[in-house]
Parts: sequence; structure tokens; C-alpha cells
Amino acid sequence: MDFAFFEGKIVPVEEAKISIMTNSFHYGTAIFEGIRAYWNEEEEQLYILFAKEHYERLLTNARCLFMELNYSAEELVEITKEILRKSEIREDVYIRPIAYFKDLKLTPKLIDYTPEIAIYLYRFGRYLDTSKGIRAKVSSWRRNDDNSIPSRWKVAGAYVNSALAKTEALMSGYDEAILLNSQGYVAEGSGENIFIIKNGKAITPSPNEHILEGITRNAVITLLKKELVVEVEERPIARSELYTADEVFLTGTAAEVTPVVEIDNRKIGNGEIGPITKQLQEFYFNAVRGKIQRYKKWLTPVYDK
Ligand code: PMP
Repeated sequence: MDFAFFEGKIVPVEEAKISIMTNSFHYGTAIFEGIRAYWNEEEEQLYILFAKEHYERLLTNARCLFMELNYSAEELVEITKEILRKSEIREDVYIRPIAYFKDLKLTPKLIDYTPEIAIYLYRFGRYLDTSKGIRAKVSSWRRNDDNSIPSRWKVAGAYVNSALAKTEALMSGYDEAILLNSQGYVAEGSGENIFIIKNGKAITPSPNEHILEGITRNAVITLLKKELVVEVEERPIARSELYTADEVFLTGTAAEVTPVVEIDNRKIGNGEIGPITKQLQEFYFNAVRGKIQRYKKWLTPVYDK
């Protein structure tokens, strides 16, 4: 049975229910996170990836919405470990914390309300096809601007934008959407950051280009620089640079490192997973499962040994 953290207690997930009158449900004023835990079969250990970093981002984002949660990042990591142990997870799993205003009130505002945090689990493997690569479409929807709903925050309401773009891509026969920002430069995927490779160099939009500052993005920048010895440039990317890139890939907790082999019906490179993307995937998948000693600092073990 899967357990969840709800209103201060760990309960069976079926018991974790909110009222239809919940304020944040109506206005999207919830802050959430997506965290993965990877099962290491040899060590019989479950590793949470970047646990503290995700909770720190959640708490920082929550404070921007005037949500003072009475937990530290460390306490939320401990609660998460307890949920995983109680649910006896021995496989890869996705963890979804969500902070929201629980008040049964009508006004869309952020003050004088009561924040709450819930944490639950999703059992799923791949989010996108990391082995074959995906086909993406540049969306007709623009990424929400920092001066309307900041993309920097994982705020529920901002995901209407993601849902519109993802749906348009799926209905047009593609796997994923790539959104441009209000200036017309490449921002990110519907739930992923984006990198292009050109002439052996990696290029990705910088954090002030209306993107979420992905935790995977940071990890991948480290792997590119340290392991692959690939230079990384953070700068605006024009739409046409996508079509002429040698390789394109998306990064995210759910998406991991997903190669993009076609954009708007144009093959990227030779239409197959590129060599840098392939090497990066290998490092990433080994690191997150605890198979590279020097990256074990990214991981939090769940079971006591
Ligand atoms: N951009 C968006 C819009 C996202 O939803 C996500 C997923 N959290 C990302 C980028 C990647 O962020 P992270 O690597 O922290 O999961």
C-alpha cells in the first residue's frame, strides 16, 4: 500500500483528500516539486536524487507566495524517506510534494491563508522515450513571462501553459512541445529544460530567459563540463538554431536526459541520438542510481544499512 503525507501525518494515500472548496485548487496557487528515487538492485538501496535541493526550491518558491511552511528542507527529506519506507518501495518511483492554501475561501490572494504541504508517490518508469529519442514541435504558445507568472517557480497555475503546449504537440502527432519565450527565443519544453549541441559546444538558455532553473539542468551542466569536457554556454537560442543543431536534448527530473531527434519535421543531425547526448545519458543514468562514487553526494539513501 502507498502512503502519503497529509495534514501533518503519514496516512494511506486513499485517505489524503482535500475539499473541492480548497482555495489553491481554484486559483493554481500551489507550489509543487517532482523528485525521483532510483532503486539500486545490487545494493538493495533506494536513492532519492537531489532530495534537499528539491525541497529547498519548494520552500523558496513557497515563500514567494507568502506560504510559510513549518518544515525545513531536512525535515521534509526525513518525512519523504519515511513515506518510501512505509510504502516499501523497491523500484524507481516519482515523488510529488505540493504546498497549497487549504482554506475554503473564495478570494484569489496569498495572505491570511493557511499553507499546508502534502507528499505522495507515483510509480512510473520513463516519462519520455530516452532510448529512441523524441519528436518535438515548437509550440504556438509562448512560455509564461516572468512578469506574469514566473516560470522560475514551480507554481501549479503556470502549468496551464505547459498543458496547452503539450496537448497541441500530442494532437499534432509529436511527443513534446518546445516553447519560445515572449522575446521569441527558445525557453524550454513543457516540463523540461533544453540544450543544443553545436560544433562540440553545449548551449542552453540562461536562467533569466523565462525558464525554470532545473535541478537536472545544473547536474547536466556539471557532467558536461567535468566528465565530457564539453564547454557550456548559457545564452539566448533562436528558433532556427534548433533546426541547425548537431544534437538537441531535454533535461528534467521526469524526463532525465531525453534526446530530441526531430523538430518541426526537420531531422536533428542525422536523426539519431548524437554522441554527446549518448555519453551524457550514460553518465546520468549511472550517477542517479548510485553507480558512480563521486556523484553519491547527489543521493540520499532511504533504507538504513
Ligand atoms: N522546466 C519545466 C517547465 C519543468 O516543469 C521542469 C520539471 N520540474 C523542468 C524544467 C526541469 O526541472 P528539474 O530538472 O528541476 O526537474
